[in-house]
Amino acid sequence: MKDLELNELLRELPAVHELVEKIPDESGTPATILMACRSVLENERTLILDGKKSQTSEKLQDKVLIELDRITSSSMKNVINATGVILHTALGRACMPGSAVEAVSRIAQGYSILQWDCETGRRGHRDIHTERLICELAGSEAATIANNNAGATLLVLSALASGREVIVSRGQLVEIGGSFRIPDVMKQSGAHMHEIGCTNRTHLRDYREAINENTAIILRVHPSNYRIRGFTGEVPLEQLVELGEEFSIPVVDDLGAGSYVDLSNFGLPSEPTVQSSIEAGAAVVTSSGDKLIGGPQAGIITGRKKYIQKIRKHPLARALRVGKLTIAALEASLMLFRENAEYLADNHPLYRMFAAGVDHLRTEADKFLSLLTLPGSCSASILETDSYVGSGSLPDYAIPSVGVGLESPDNDTLARTLRQGNPAVASRIEDGLIKLDMRTLQPGELEMLAALVNSALQELWA
Ligand SMILES: *Cc1c(COP(=O)(O)O)cnc(C)c1O
Repeated sequence: MKDLELNELLRELPAVHELVEKIPDESGTPATILMACRSVLENERTLILDGKKSQTSEKLQDKVLIELDRITSSSMKNVINATGVILHTALGRACMPGSAVEAVSRIAQGYSILQWDCETGRRGHRDIHTERLICELAGSEAATIANNNAGATLLVLSALASGREVIVSRGQLVEIGGSFRIPDVMKQSGAHMHEIGCTNRTHLRDYREAINENTAIILRVHPSNYRIRGFTGEVPLEQLVELGEEFSIPVVDDLGAGSYVDLSNFGLPSEPTVQSSIEAGAAVVTSSGDKLIGGPQAGIITGRKKYIQKIRKHPLARALRVGKLTIAALEASLMLFRENAEYLADNHPLYRMFAAGVDHLRTEADKFLSLLTLPGSCSASILETDSYVGSGSLPDYAIPSVGVGLESPDNDTLARTLRQGNPAVASRIEDGLIKLDMRTLQPGELEMLAALVNSALQELWA
């Protein structure tokens, strides 16, 4: 195309203010309408200069509305989790109990006594809202909260062991998803790692021989996301505590998931509870807020008062402190653990998912299947599958579950279409099937999932 024609087409484009006037006011705020118009016109100019044809003004308006929708919709889309992985880190880990959601909404709306002592009118400490509850549940003396358990571990090591030695078994040098590795956290804290034993076996005498005048802590790390099998041996916490007491060295227990209820109540293998670590004599226990508590992202540090006070005073504590929404959600989530397993299964989404029986899931799968409209090239069937706790808890334990398997001409394309929907759908592709596990669906999502699957199948293969 000649320059003359290009110039002609460019000149036909409306000015920004002309296009803005054609967009109905209710389509967006003045700022977003202006932004969308600018971006559409910019794009048109590029199209023209690249030799593509000019658009009529009506089409431009449609493009502005589409652009408005794109720039004003939230990036934080909801996901229907059909993977069967209950605590899925990429999908935000825990679904919080209703009481926690209410607490967040109540506190988010206005002012609160976050750090204000109503008695004196002076500044207080934000830990008071969760400390008593944690101590009540764990049987501990004091507690403080950090941004997450990785932060909690860093804070504890920095406050109690910087410039000194931390004894840790080689079988416990964990890497938790990506960049959280015990040796790296140790280095960052300024503590010196004193590794002992072997990958598969560490003995009490290894600990005893490692103790010297520079030892600050004996650290135990729960091997959350892996299992060492065969000729193995770790020293029980009680024995570490006994040894520590002999030399006045505190034992710090990084539990990771740190449940407050025995998972065997839900037909799962037991994971260590925070109260059992405290009872065994751990001086400080660290755990996550969004693993087996099923609350907000947080790191819970609890144990003996003299250590918690020292941790609270460390400069990193301020850098890693949590906000009011986390505190509100954590308090409400923890309160549920005063109740029995049955109550938890009825009122906590995480424990409802743990407790869901295979018969119930089969009924759900039947219902789901009956809602599907399958094009001729696709098929669906009920299948037995496995759910997982996720987030590094019980890594090798498969929870028997029921799902629906979809077969289509192109499963990768179907999975991508489902991922790009709103809500997005997360599924598992296995054995030539798209597997949708019923266990991780939340109330009301079954119908929504069926509608999303139907519309994807229609779009691709009808
Ligand atoms: C998960 C885990 C962490 C990290 O906890 P986040 O809350 O994810 O930061 C640290 N230590 C152990 C043993 C864990 O299992």
